[in-house]
Amino acid sequence: MEVLEKQLIANLKSRFFDLIDTEKGLLYYEQFLKEMLYVVKSFIGVDELTTFNCNHWSRELFIEASTNEELNTNNQFTLLYDEFQDYVSSKSIIHQPIPFKNFEQYELLIPLKRNQEVFGYLAFRGIANCNCSDALLVEIAKECCSFLHKARGLCDVIFEEKRYKQLFRVTEKFHSSMDMDAVLEEIIDTLQEVYPTFTYYLMLSHDNNSHKNLPIKDLEYDNENISAMQAYLTGTIQLEDSIQEKRSILYAPLKGKQGVYGVLQVIAPNAMTFPNREIEFITLLANTAGTAMENAQLYQQSRKLISDLQLINETSHRLNSNLRLSDTISFMTEHFQSSFDAEEVGFVLVSDDFEQWKVIKGSTSFFYSEGASAYLQYISNKIKNERDSIFLGDLNIEYLLTKFKSVMAVPMVQTEKIMGFALVMHRLPYHFSFETFKLMQSLIHHSTLAFTNSMLREELEKMVITDHLTKLHSRNFLTEKIQRSMSEDAFGTFILIDIDNFKQINDSYGHQVGDEVLVQVSSVIQDNIRDADIGARWGGEELALYLPKIQLDVAVVIAERLVRKVSELTHPSITISCGVSNWTKEHDDDNFTKLFKRADQALYVAKETGKNKVIVQEVIA
Ligand code: GH3
Ligand code: MG
Ligand code: MG
Repeated sequence: MEVLEKQLIANLKSRFFDLIDTEKGLLYYEQFLKEMLYVVKSFIGVDELTTFNCNHWSRELFIEASTNEELNTNNQFTLLYDEFQDYVSSKSIIHQPIPFKNFEQYELLIPLKRNQEVFGYLAFRGIANCNCSDALLVEIAKECCSFLHKARGLCDVIFEEKRYKQLFRVTEKFHSSMDMDAVLEEIIDTLQEVYPTFTYYLMLSHDNNSHKNLPIKDLEYDNENISAMQAYLTGTIQLEDSIQEKRSILYAPLKGKQGVYGVLQVIAPNAMTFPNREIEFITLLANTAGTAMENAQLYQQSRKLISDLQLINETSHRLNSNLRLSDTISFMTEHFQSSFDAEEVGFVLVSDDFEQWKVIKGSTSFFYSEGASAYLQYISNKIKNERDSIFLGDLNIEYLLTKFKSVMAVPMVQTEKIMGFALVMHRLPYHFSFETFKLMQSLIHHSTLAFTNSMLREELEKMVITDHLTKLHSRNFLTEKIQRSMSEDAFGTFILIDIDNFKQINDSYGHQVGDEVLVQVSSVIQDNIRDADIGARWGGEELALYLPKIQLDVAVVIAERLVRKVSELTHPSITISCGVSNWTKEHDDDNFTKLFKRADQALYVAKETGKNKVIVQEVIA
């Protein structure tokens, strides 16, 4: 090369060097390329310079940059690629005419080479004013190649730096947020920023959360998704190239420390191959997503655990606060419904032989309906045989019509005896998790003692507390009082009362009116006795009265007054029959049973002899 040309080249190099000024923010390869074209254009004095790039893989040429701003870059030239390559590649410079479509307009074409391989072309238009020799032009093209090579390297470093900053940002987000959606969104945003022409999907397995704007796909095992499934199962990146569809797909597993939570699908158009470093970057992002999902899951699990513990805590507080059984059961029912998302919750007592059962008040209404008995029968049989808890995900028994598919039942065991069971159901199959089942078991185990205590206490109360319907005392209470009186007092009288022809009342007016009449009779009794006297419901429509320290003759007057008042004050009017018996201290072999028998006999006589009357059977000396 001549000295002058050498100087020119040195000059060009120095102008190229000026382009590399990172202060200016010139950081994109495309920008470097364009600036370089302008430098060369003015340096050699031509009208237009354009570079073409070869995509060997898709066998296409496209315009990469031009000083002619009207040219659409990335415009693809489908031409006889192989023939074109053959025509030009062996030459170092090609003059007009160039016998290929779209190239007729160029006066000069110089292949751009790196390592002997043509990677593009420099095309010239308007070279009339250029007086460079071919050798110089080839030399200039060489310098362009070397400049572009360096620019590419520089851009890569800068690009890399930028990407790792983005990765850092994602990681930061992930460390500062427990919101899985926010992390996934950040990952998609970052990817879209780095590779804007790609399409992304998050393929999640068993995902039932709603993610607002995220591109989520279900990860399903089918023929179309073999690579995705492969990535999911092996936890490794999978690549899928489709030349026909002109696209490549990358599947990166969303991998945490304990498992794989889904797959990130990256679709690149134009069938470009994913270079290793892109794969590396996407892998890093996918792993971040995996860890974020794992964390979010662990966080959700820990919150669930906390709420479970709160439930246990609250339940034991409740159980220890001496509530009525039905209140406790209502409380448990409500909590099971909300915590387990159960539709029906029942607490059931069973007889020793499991043949009979009683739904405890506070269970959901379904258990009082007709449909419930088949379930109760089935479950109590199963518990009777297996003596263990039951966890069914897809109950399928014909005679049940299986309205409820998910069933959990836990026996209530007290001192090794099964007293009953708690039953939780939902229409949908596999609705309850195994954790829920375990939690229910532990709750029932802990509360059974409290249930039993409540029940015993209430049974006791029932014996003492007044009868629900008549507001009279209970039979047990009366019996106890008589027995005490017989040991402490000198005498007393017992009156057994039975409503006459009560069946007819029920039959003509219905049970409810029957009940009302029973209440009316009870209030007549209550209104006509002293505080010390005890009126009681003996059972059904039989009532009883004990008058401590009252002689038989006084008692008969009282009984007769009752017979009269009842017939006057009841609507619809009914009559009663009374059997009266007494005891005195003088008869020391007398006892309560005998006292009752005498009154019962007297009542029988009253009934047999026309009803609506008082008959006495005195204690016989
Ligand atoms: P008698 O004069 O012989 O007593 O005739 P009766 O129809 O009253 O016959 P009995 O005493 O043998 O039958 C009582 C009937 O009262 C039977 C039952 O249907 C009804 N009964 C029992 N307890 C109740 C109750 O709490 N409420 C209502 N409405 N009916 C009751
Ligand atoms: Mg009767
Ligand atoms: Mg009767």
